Amino acid sequence: MESVRTILLHRSAYADNDLEADALRSYLKEKGVFVVNLMSSPGAGKTTTLTALINNLKDKVRIGVMEADIDSDVDAINIAKKTGVKSIQLHTGGMCHLDAGMTKTGLDEINIDDLDLVFLENVGNLVCPAEFDTGATLDIMILSIPEGDDKPLKYPLVFEKSDLVIINKIDALSYFNFDMEKCINSIKKRNKDATIIPISAKTGEGIDKVADYFIQRLKFYKE
Ligand code: MG
Ligand code: ZN
Repeated sequence: MESVRTILLHRSAYADNDLEADALRSYLKEKGVFVVNLMSSPGAGKTTTLTALINNLKDKVRIGVMEADIDSDVDAINIAKKTGVKSIQLHTGGMCHLDAGMTKTGLDEINIDDLDLVFLENVGNLVCPAEFDTGATLDIMILSIPEGDDKPLKYPLVFEKSDLVIINKIDALSYFNFDMEKCINSIKKRNKDATIIPISAKTGEGIDKVADYFIQRLKFYKE
């Protein structure tokens, strides 16, 4: 296994992040590379979910992973060890979100020429990652059962921006007062087109459905 490199990111020199994000999306489309921006609170299970998902998809699709964190490289090392796919660690230098320039730097470093699908694990935070367009092809998020069913009411923007909402840790449903129907209704009120998939990254339940979702999206993207 190749060792995991760590890339230190700097804030983009571009004044307009939205323009840079749109340019990056066009470039990715031209290259035929699908980039997924994954957002969640800290501890919702981004790395565990990605590990299970990548192990499901890696024989069908060429995958790369970029793990963004304020510091530390534990996630990138973990994911490389458990999946064997190309993985790099991005350090944001204290920033609590990624912008399009940082994402582009990461993609240049990981080298997307031999990849179909790149997962970008954004910094664990439900606020500003939703405000800064990374230039990714698709925005998705994970909400976990212990966080509560009222998260869509408290952090509406991230739910509005996410095409896919994964509800993780359903194996823990019986320990928490989490009303699944109420939660799904709150998400739909914010984003009627969102796909919602309940899973347990721990037991593997629902991972097939998430994998199918990406296979379909990729097929459509490459057409
Ligand atoms: Mg993580
Ligand atoms: Zn931030």
